[in-house]
Amino acid sequence: MTNAREILIVEDEASIAEVVSLYLTRAGFNVRAVSDGKRAMDAFASAQPDLVILDLMLPEVDGLTLTRWLRDRSDVPIIMLTARREEIDRIAGLEMGADDYVVKPFSPQELVSRVRAVMRRLGREQDGGGNERSLSFEGLIIDPRGRVVTVREKIVEMTAREFDMLHFMARHPKQVFTREQLLERVWGGALYIDPGTVTVHVRRLREKIEEDPSKPKRLLTVWGVGYKFEP
Ligand code: CA
Repeated sequence: MTNAREILIVEDEASIAEVVSLYLTRAGFNVRAVSDGKRAMDAFASAQPDLVILDLMLPEVDGLTLTRWLRDRSDVPIIMLTARREEIDRIAGLEMGADDYVVKPFSPQELVSRVRAVMRRLGREQDGGGNERSLSFEGLIIDPRGRVVTVREKIVEMTAREFDMLHFMARHPKQVFTREQLLERVWGGALYIDPGTVTVHVRRLREKIEEDPSKPKRLLTVWGVGYKFEP
């Protein structure tokens, strides 16, 4: 394939970088691997990848700083590798905008599935996005063509995943989704993603679209079940 997708891997553990590169190359992707954050910035600046796989703990520039740096420049999907489950909470607290988290140790095959799911989503956006109409609610407009959300007449910045989740829920108003269902529908059913990631995205979205995030009127919690969008 001449137009293979480019993936940038940022991982200082050579054995992991090697195995992940091997699996992704076999899966048909163009892969570049770098071992620290500084090199990742240079690599990203020289040729923008379609997706970044990023280890949280890196020498020189750490994964969180690098994520912020990437987010300032691009909405490239980021899959973060973390060593322990608890780090998910730390990341969540820092609200730093990765799309997915994969917890070590992971199977390379599972990571490849995650990457494929993200690429399918990108492909759908590029191929079929033009047919989707904007969704309008009082004080909230969701435009899937430009992937722009306007809240009370102001454009609100969102990560790719935040947008997908809001757009998905707004397309199914008043329907209750469990966190697992949202993982399945918005994240593509990744086994290695903690359902807590959904909670984090709901909280971030509330901060962005609700007048009072502590008293949400759009993204409602259905206690003991999940979440629903109130039109
Ligand atoms: Ca590391």
